[in-house]
Amino acid sequence: SGRHRVAIIGGGSAGISVAARLRRAGVSDITLVEPSDTHWYQPLWTLVGGGQAPLRVTRRPEGSVIPDGVRWIRRRALAVDPESRTVTLSGGAELTYEHLVMAPGLQLDWDGVPGLGEAVGHDRVSSNYAPEYAPRTWELVREMRSGTAVFTHPATPLKCGGAPQKIAYLAADHWRRRKVLDDIRVVLVLPDPAMFKVPAWSQVLEEVAARYGIEVRLRSEMTAVDGDARKLTITDHAHGTKETLGYDLLHAVPPQRAPDWVKASPLADPASPQGFVAADKHTLQHPSYGNVFALGDVANLPTSKTGAAVRKQAPAVAGNLLDVMNGRSPSHRYDGYTSCPLVTARDRMLLAEFDYDLNPTPSFPLLNPFKERRSMWLFKRYGLPPIYWHGMLTGRL
Ligand code: FAD
Repeated sequence: SGRHRVAIIGGGSAGISVAARLRRAGVSDITLVEPSDTHWYQPLWTLVGGGQAPLRVTRRPEGSVIPDGVRWIRRRALAVDPESRTVTLSGGAELTYEHLVMAPGLQLDWDGVPGLGEAVGHDRVSSNYAPEYAPRTWELVREMRSGTAVFTHPATPLKCGGAPQKIAYLAADHWRRRKVLDDIRVVLVLPDPAMFKVPAWSQVLEEVAARYGIEVRLRSEMTAVDGDARKLTITDHAHGTKETLGYDLLHAVPPQRAPDWVKASPLADPASPQGFVAADKHTLQHPSYGNVFALGDVANLPTSKTGAAVRKQAPAVAGNLLDVMNGRSPSHRYDGYTSCPLVTARDRMLLAEFDYDLNPTPSFPLLNPFKERRSMWLFKRYGLPPIYWHGMLTGRL
């Protein structure tokens, strides 16, 4: 059997969006490698953890989102050799390609914090980052009447940089409405020197945290958990101190990195300690292998890893792949657009959208983007999911 024209590794947000766009452009012989029979819409997991959406609406059968005419191999990629243009698959088969799209997402490193792997899912530790735990977050929030609740953010790059704090606001607002917030100490542990990369939104978030009485620990990270004792260690990098804190609820976001086989491959960016794939930040083409493109969470790009970013990356990758197939140099550019829907209350949201230069790039230019809005919360809960399933995954939007 000959080489496949295009191989796409990963049928998540990025892989499906690119496949759909290539099919619309008339490309045939596209092969998708995806081991899972489920496609997840992860942005709603925050609302699942906040008790505002059921898990089932975040899940669809993988087969239902794969575009017609794309060949699906239900296996896991185990290795890639860009010299021989070969991908090794689980079960031992090999797939050869002319062009490769790397979109296998990232890996949650539960064992990256000692004790976290054992404690998550038990010991009052939960995480919206995995569908098996997100519903548990809401059970813990709902049951809590007093004590200490801790929300953490890892020091690695992560998907949706706002998600670790959104759930703190959803929980605090619930406790405020139940009139128990005064009896709950809420601690938010963040690794950066500010609450958000863009100062104007950071300032709004400081006010939001203050409104709920949340204790914000900047330049800090959780470095150990003892689930049996319900204690965790917070390391404060600004002061070089360590503190042990007892908790009654812990929402933990694990460190994140590229899948091991990606990190071990020649496609990994030597400048990325987590092994993310090298890609030109505008064309998304690999710097050493012109027939390889990367997008989504696996790509080492200086922007936040989000589905919203993928929406703008997919047209650039599909367009540039067509350029390369036709012997032209890549002409489509991605400007770093990303968006973080910062849920700040059970009925309010800030939509932070910006590019590589941290300039705001609002989709609704007539609305002040530094104001919390109910309309934006409604957009996230009810507007964005259909746009995702019917617009983005079909290559229309
Ligand atoms: P994924 O969608 O994760 O897909 C990766 C795919 O690759 C999966 O289907 C997986 O099965 C497959 N795969 C893995 N390993 C292999 C392998 N070895 N071989 C083949 N296939 C493989 N984004 C927003 O825009 N807005 C938000 O509000 C938002 N909130 C979020 C909240 C949470 C709690 C989380 C977890 C994420 C959130 N995101 C949000 C981020 C968004 O979901 C991701 O950035 C997006 O899904 C990235 O797309 P991707 O295709 O790169 O990765």
